[in-house]
Amino acid sequence: EAYDLDAFKAALNGIRVHDDAKYREARSRDYFWYSPILNEQLKDKLGDLIVVPDSVEEVMQVASLIARHRIPLTLRGGGTGNYGQCVPLEGGVIMDLTRLNRVIEVTEGHVRVEAGARISRLDDAARETGQELLMYPSTRQMATIGGFIAGGSGGIGSLRHGMLRDPGNVTYAKVITVESEPKVIELRDGDIQKVQHAYGTNGIVVELGLALTPATDWIHTAALFDGYDTALRFAIDAQEGGLDCYLLTAVERRFAPYYKKFGDLFPADRDAIFAMVAPDEMDRFTREAGARGGKVSFAMTKSGISDAGLQPAYECGWNHTTLQALKADKSWTYLQVAYPRPFDSKLVIQQMQRYGDEIYWHHEMARMDGEIQVFALPLVTYRGKTAMYELIAELEAIDGCTIYDPHVVTIEDGGMKEIDDSQIAFKKRADPYGLMNPGKTRGWSADMARRDDTTFQQGEKA
Ligand code: FAD
Repeated sequence: EAYDLDAFKAALNGIRVHDDAKYREARSRDYFWYSPILNEQLKDKLGDLIVVPDSVEEVMQVASLIARHRIPLTLRGGGTGNYGQCVPLEGGVIMDLTRLNRVIEVTEGHVRVEAGARISRLDDAARETGQELLMYPSTRQMATIGGFIAGGSGGIGSLRHGMLRDPGNVTYAKVITVESEPKVIELRDGDIQKVQHAYGTNGIVVELGLALTPATDWIHTAALFDGYDTALRFAIDAQEGGLDCYLLTAVERRFAPYYKKFGDLFPADRDAIFAMVAPDEMDRFTREAGARGGKVSFAMTKSGISDAGLQPAYECGWNHTTLQALKADKSWTYLQVAYPRPFDSKLVIQQMQRYGDEIYWHHEMARMDGEIQVFALPLVTYRGKTAMYELIAELEAIDGCTIYDPHVVTIEDGGMKEIDDSQIAFKKRADPYGLMNPGKTRGWSADMARRDDTTFQQGEKA
């Protein structure tokens, strides 16, 4: 450690901190353990101190001290990321943003909110005005809106409103720089991409503006089919036909034992479509499922679901499906697959035949660039790193799928595939000392290597 943590702590001036080992351990982890590869790499990483600011002013004080003392800084929201995004690779300070949680203002079609607000609270606040969020991850309960923007990509609602990064979904982001005199930078429109999915490597997002849409009291439902191919084709037809829903997830029958709460509502001899359907579309949903031999097994409003002791439909898809299985059997891991467009369900059936018991499948309907985009987050039997990368290569070469590798820590090796120069350029402004979430962007290391070390060192003095 080259930094003086005690001096940093002493200068904090009453800002809330935690330094006991148990607390630090809990706040140094996320859901990286889904990946045995990441688990090996990250399980012992530990932050030195957890700082919990209460206000933007406190965030700025911490940012200033971090810069003066040159301490690595990792931001943390709900800590529900899957790739160790908020695991401190080089120790240092973890800034927990969950107390920065005010919903500032809800107006027609828009909400302003502090970045540490839990998504469930934010969506509930919007609902009180007859509106709702365009999308949220299945971790709605725990995740923060800042963590979603900085670490997520889309999820429930994406089949109706596209991916998080699509124009208009996020309207602005207020960012604090990590310098001895921190600046406030407001990003709007296309400029928001500079911090979007940047893993908190280039500025502290303290406030966000998000578009809202009129609320729907979604019906949480499942339809059961005799055949996964049939279920998938129903889902695609429903989407092509414009059926108004917020979630449409196909889950094959081998998952049924993991959906314990559902019992006969998801039996082991049927493949399921879990959905959130607009109330006035429910008849059509039932009729179109029926036309393919499908049967609706339950249909309830959200309050009905909790009265019945079931999980909401949004916890039956995306990475919550993986979680259900992992809770029962830790030998599974998973992959993230994007299918070539237009989607052909035959490809899935070929994959199911090719991999047999090695892989269990579920598929998510979304919309990307206005077109139907199908994703899968299949459960994969872990047979070591080499086998995992052989499988990834196969899915890409044979099936033309794109894999967003969930077994790596950098932005570029995961979803983004390439270095985003505009994010790196913004990092030079927002984090000139490279203190933020070190090790998470290859773009920065490459840039550092190119730079003349001496000019860099001559920057601001502590
Ligand atoms: P964290 O994990 O705390 O942080 C995520 C990243 O953002 C970190 O790099 C962190 O440093 C950075 N960060 C946090 N706050 C800020 C800030 N204020 N400013 C700048 N950077 C910040 N993701 C999806 O996109 N869609 C899904 O459907 C989905 N489903 C999931 C299901 C399960 C069961 C699990 C475990 C994960 C899922 N995820 C999904 C991943 C994750 O839950 C979401 O992306 C979530 O929105 C992350 O929010 P968080 O507050 O937990 O972020």
